[in-house]
Amino acid sequence: MAKTIGIVLSERISAGLVIDNRIEGELCCFPEDAGDESALVELHTDGLVNVISEQVLRARRDHQDITAIGVSVPGLIRNGVVEEAPNLPQLKGARMGEMLTIALRREGIEVPVNIVNDADGIAAGLAATHGKLDSMIRVWTLGIGIGFGRYPFAQGVWEGGHTCVTLDDKETFCGCGGRGHIEGIMGHRAMRLRFLDMEPDEVFAAARQRPAGPETERCLKFVHLWHKALAAGIANSIHMSGAGKFYLTGFNVGFVELPMLKEYLHQMIKMSPLQAYTLEIIQDSPEVRIIGAAVTAEQSITYARKKAILANAQ
Ligand SMILES: [Zn+2]
Repeated sequence: MAKTIGIVLSERISAGLVIDNRIEGELCCFPEDAGDESALVELHTDGLVNVISEQVLRARRDHQDITAIGVSVPGLIRNGVVEEAPNLPQLKGARMGEMLTIALRREGIEVPVNIVNDADGIAAGLAATHGKLDSMIRVWTLGIGIGFGRYPFAQGVWEGGHTCVTLDDKETFCGCGGRGHIEGIMGHRAMRLRFLDMEPDEVFAAARQRPAGPETERCLKFVHLWHKALAAGIANSIHMSGAGKFYLTGFNVGFVELPMLKEYLHQMIKMSPLQAYTLEIIQDSPEVRIIGAAVTAEQSITYARKKAILANAQ
């Protein structure tokens, strides 16, 4: 019976004990108040590591036999190091895996710590909770930034949220500073920068307003651009890695109008062998993210063991 702890760093930190791909007991969260969005941005890296190890202790309760700890972080992760994290900039360069291992050892917890990109974590969580641990899935997370994850895990970089989807010189709202990126159109932060006087949900509501109000035309134009950007991101992924299953999630997934998205996809993908793709909207849940972080940690141990066996055999 695999017992692991999954932790998710997003607008706040959530942790849970995962036994056989299911959450056991209550989630532990910091800050406890979900409305306090800036709490993590204000914490420096050491502070974050301390808060994470506190949540591990709370989530573990009296289960002394956990085998691994998985942490999902919004950023570009390589070998336990956060190489880039536009939405938690203080983490850039942090050796998270190593720092957490040391902090937990001080608490008497000596198990492997695995750091995973948050969107890859969600992909693993969806695969585990939808019985698809044996197939390839891709997921777009529509939140403060735009994440792109895939399962099964493979070495490489797929910062899909920073795919260029427009050549317009004025498209510079992406959190990474790059021009023409999906996140610069679809990300929550980017939408607030574009519409300084309106919140994203007001923009989408104004686009639907009948009879049309003074803002309807401008907002409707943006809603189309938003869907075109997502269609372009999916189409680019299909043209590079083939058709298949795509999940859409994140707290802004409610803005997606599937017929509009499918129409733009239809316009962008014309090669018939690439048209066998499916889309599914999944409501964002911390549980799926936590299970994903835990499953990835568990699989990374199996992977390390296999590698060691192969190395010994040579
Ligand atoms: Zn970008």
